[in-house]
Amino acid sequence: MHGLSKSIVLSGLSPERLAAALEPLAPFRARQIFKWIARGARSFNDMTDLSHTLREELSAAHTLYGTTIIGRLEDPDGTVKLKIGLTDGAVIEAVLLRDGEGRQTACISTQAGCPAGCVFCKTGSLGFLRNLAAHEIVEQFLHLRSIGLQSAAPTIANIVIMGMGEPLLNLGELRAALSIITNPEGIGLSKRRITLSTSGIAAGIRELADTGPDLRLAVSLTTADPALREELMPIARSNPLPVLKEALHYYQKKRGRRITLEAVLLRGVNTRNEDAEAIANFSRGLDAAVNLIPWNPVEGMTFRGMALREPTAEEITRFSRELTRRGITVTQRFRKGRSVSGACGQLGELGAGDSPYYF
Ligand code: SF4
Repeated sequence: MHGLSKSIVLSGLSPERLAAALEPLAPFRARQIFKWIARGARSFNDMTDLSHTLREELSAAHTLYGTTIIGRLEDPDGTVKLKIGLTDGAVIEAVLLRDGEGRQTACISTQAGCPAGCVFCKTGSLGFLRNLAAHEIVEQFLHLRSIGLQSAAPTIANIVIMGMGEPLLNLGELRAALSIITNPEGIGLSKRRITLSTSGIAAGIRELADTGPDLRLAVSLTTADPALREELMPIARSNPLPVLKEALHYYQKKRGRRITLEAVLLRGVNTRNEDAEAIANFSRGLDAAVNLIPWNPVEGMTFRGMALREPTAEEITRFSRELTRRGITVTQRFRKGRSVSGACGQLGELGAGDSPYYF
């Protein structure tokens, strides 16, 4: 029946595409199945408003999900990191974060590895394997929610697209995934609760401004010293600061939304007073707040031949003060999930083995 190969994974399809994939099944059946996926049905067998025969036919002809949880690590602070296996053997990571009030945030990946190569990021040091398909992005959310359901506040309040990968280099599949996650007939998460963090891909920021979705935008600036930024974030060579700033102006003109400029603080590297001044100058004219992210240690990561180190408390306070006295709104990222390498910049520590993407 239904004529489509099992290689199409249904969890990554919009209601319309799902209806087409399930033809000649009546469209209302596709809507039922879309809702079941959003509710976390584990198999066609869970879809109790479909007849037993139909469930069997669907199981034989279609693939509902394409990823599997292959590992789970839990930090005492409540952070859960999942290792998720893909059908081609690649492994990605997704993280469930919990704040002091029990609110849960899903941190999801958009690529296996990352081509951006930021020197302070474990994922970047692994290189790039491939873009994730829409279903591989949707399923990270479903997996994390299934873990979150076991908590006192069982909903996921926010999504941050800050896991493995540069999201604006996989905008098509990400957009398809988010249209499923935000569909009111399904999971129904508000777009306003989704934050996308980019290393600063100017063309992608313009595309986001033109065609949405209307998310919260964060840009990992880290430094506004052009030469230092090119060293720390090689993607800056093709996306220099003036071009990035123009793209951010364009985004703000079109979307009218405050953006976050993130700064990963590295001890003795980008925390001088002149670094604060450069960030303040960059943000002038933009409606932006600066989010400080004290670097989370990853063993073996170096810069100019020296081991990278986390900033001291004094360094963070001074840097924050230097920004504030220049009129900048500053926030600081809470450190979460460090014991499971689930904190920002630590994803990809998959354990021993020459080929970290495969299990
Ligand atoms: S910080 Fe983000 S963009 Fe940079 S290498 Fe890591 S995953 Fe890629």
